[in-house]
Amino acid sequence: MWRALFDNIYVEKRTLVDAETKRILDRAGCTGPVPIDHYKDVFDRKSPLGKTGRSLILAHNPGRHLYEGAPVCQSFGNEHFYYSPGVMNCIYDCEYCFLKGMYPGGDICIFTDIDETFSELDELEKVHPVYVCASYNTDLTALEDLTGYVEKWCRRALEHRDFSVEIRSKCSRTDIYSKLPVSDRAVFAFTISPDEIAGRFEKKTPGTDGRINALKAASDAGFPIRICFDPMIYVRNWREIYRVMFEKCASAVNPDKIRDISIGTFRISDQYLKKMRKKMPESEIAQYPYVSEAGYYQYPEKVRTSMEGFMREMILEKWPDVSIFDWR
Ligand code: SF4
Repeated sequence: MWRALFDNIYVEKRTLVDAETKRILDRAGCTGPVPIDHYKDVFDRKSPLGKTGRSLILAHNPGRHLYEGAPVCQSFGNEHFYYSPGVMNCIYDCEYCFLKGMYPGGDICIFTDIDETFSELDELEKVHPVYVCASYNTDLTALEDLTGYVEKWCRRALEHRDFSVEIRSKCSRTDIYSKLPVSDRAVFAFTISPDEIAGRFEKKTPGTDGRINALKAASDAGFPIRICFDPMIYVRNWREIYRVMFEKCASAVNPDKIRDISIGTFRISDQYLKKMRKKMPESEIAQYPYVSEAGYYQYPEKVRTSMEGFMREMILEKWPDVSIFDWR
């Protein structure tokens, strides 16, 4: 399956001998990767307009392995909030994804030196507790058969008292959770969208039901669950489609199993949106007339307060005791 997903598989020469690299190549069914000097030789190439294929790159991360979270990301009350760029780019390719503004093309780069990330964490944990979003620049769960990194992050959470991790996903897999090391420091976050939004703007992702089923599987396995109604996307009939989506959640999910919920309308840094507008002149989402505030494009205040307020009211009506986080 994996081999068919990628046009080519490139490996940095210095990583060819790594056990982790060999393991991923084996899982990808690749016997003859293309050796390269540096991942940027491939990753930094701009995708020609309309190109849909992508390559896989295995490399070492020459820079930092952990970064402090951006202001538009929710920290869920965690003071020391970091994200890991351990995998760059995502197989799902959502139209609004900030990765389109962040990276030049669609190739996926996996840094195989995840142990270096854990060494950086060891140092941070000596100073304070650390909360990491491990699935920030990708959908890690969707890549689990290839990387095994979800398992590694969950194991670390189980073994380190001062460490907690969030794995965010739109993946509908239900089979992995019962095999992962369970702890209340590994939070599985599911972005739930209306089917109409998934169909129009998250074309390669599973729909509402598939994501809810995955959420229930993670919860049944004993993991804390986060539901992300974020990003909410403005469309003409947004009230109706978000109401239908929430009713599906409310009838399927036990609120006692939910650690918290995040609500947020779409927002993106000025810099990324400008790049996306150039790359995607036909995109309804990229070309929407957002307003810019403090370096971030977002919906006009009336739109965002209506949408976020509507969602909050629905949640409070059905699940009055669940903690709700707002990105502001
Ligand atoms: S699933 Fe998340 S990371 Fe992947 S393309 Fe969609 S928004 Fe981006």
